[in-house]
Amino acid sequence: MAKSEKPLIVMKFGGTSVGSAERMQNVAELVKEHSRRAEIAVVVSAMGGVTDMLIRAATEASRGDREQWKSVRQEIARRHREVADRTLSASEQAVVLPRLAEQVGNFENLCSGFSLVREVTPRAMDTLSSLGEVMSSTLLAAILRSQGVPAEAVDATELIVTDDKFGNATPLFEETNQKMRARLASLRRRGEIPVITGFRGATLDGHCTTLGRGGSDYSGTLVGAALDADEVWIWTDVDGVMTADPRLVPTAHIIPEISYREAIELSFFGAKVLHPKTIQPVIKRKIPVWIKNTFNPSCPGTKIGPSAANGKPGVKAITSVSKTQLITLTGRGNLTFASLATKAFAALGAEEVDTLMVTQSSADNVLCFAIRDSDLKCVKTHLEKVFELELLHDNRASIEVMPHVAIVVTIGENMKGTPGIAGRSFSALGRKGINIIAIAQGSSEISISFAVKTSDVKEAVQAIHDEFQL
Ligand code: ASP
Repeated sequence: MAKSEKPLIVMKFGGTSVGSAERMQNVAELVKEHSRRAEIAVVVSAMGGVTDMLIRAATEASRGDREQWKSVRQEIARRHREVADRTLSASEQAVVLPRLAEQVGNFENLCSGFSLVREVTPRAMDTLSSLGEVMSSTLLAAILRSQGVPAEAVDATELIVTDDKFGNATPLFEETNQKMRARLASLRRRGEIPVITGFRGATLDGHCTTLGRGGSDYSGTLVGAALDADEVWIWTDVDGVMTADPRLVPTAHIIPEISYREAIELSFFGAKVLHPKTIQPVIKRKIPVWIKNTFNPSCPGTKIGPSAANGKPGVKAITSVSKTQLITLTGRGNLTFASLATKAFAALGAEEVDTLMVTQSSADNVLCFAIRDSDLKCVKTHLEKVFELELLHDNRASIEVMPHVAIVVTIGENMKGTPGIAGRSFSALGRKGINIIAIAQGSSEISISFAVKTSDVKEAVQAIHDEFQL
């Protein structure tokens, strides 16, 4: 499809950006203003807090509790109704209120079903947990129309095709691109702004799926890639990507520009600003992604692009993951390191557990890796199963768990080939008397990870931030 003269920008708005009538009005004004100079496609999250409420209601309903979901029903109906009352013209209300009522009805039917069968399947949970996006997109499109901007709410189940891993589905890119271009073509021709539900997609046979919590960022870049947008703007409630978590380092500040790889590392290692898979769809087409603040729209934000123009060598940002555990596997006798690692990673792979860092000390056949606290139970059970015989027979393997560990990660594409970064980081920690439990750096040299005690994490991040004068 031919691109229009104007640049195409996909704008994704997060839950706090559309958390109230006032915030939604504000978003509509931003879209209106930018639509004078650019063609806009909008992707929207549920109103802040709504997804949590929906999930909680479904869980309670599946335990047979009828009270909780009924109060959530009232609250959800009230919040969306209030936005409609305060922002929409009478004619728009006539269109939108029945649609909202239909979604509230869907919520009610699903929850009463869960409470009867005392179960909620992952598939049904996806349909329910993403209703907030259906409601917010319906409202935002109507607010835009009320302000004279042609817009239409579009359900991403008609656009994003995924596999059937309910709760954390993976998009099928080719199918998504084709479907999205075809479905949005006539809207774009008519100059109408699509207001697309974030978070949700559908399998090839049409069952609703979700892209994982916080997945609307990912929806934004999927739309950007499919439409070959000029830019994707992720509107959130902070001014951009920061050099460190400001709760740990009060002097942390916004980074004007970072590379795709740096952003991927940062989001994998706990930086909350982006969903970890967000960058993946835009890499091939080199589409820049901007992080911007709806509460401070004049701040330029952070640009995430194929490479960061700022060529300064060294560390760009520091991040940390606090609630982790270190697992140490030791093999003895004829249990080689290769077979120890093969068995251990096959067990982790089967459960799709992320390891945050991995180290080896080969002389002793010791494999050490960090996992999130939430994965411990599953990992321990699987490791004890795959090493059942070794654990039984004359102690040929042992599994030790060290709790209360944090992983601190220094990130920067230009750390590669710059001597002294690890040395300076270690010295900075040493001067503060912080013990490093384990260390890992890959040959890409884009990040260095250290494991420290959780109680040391704040001081460790601060010490490295100061050392590199970020
Ligand atoms: N509403 C979903 C969540 O809270 C998706 C999103 O906002 O990105 O996880």
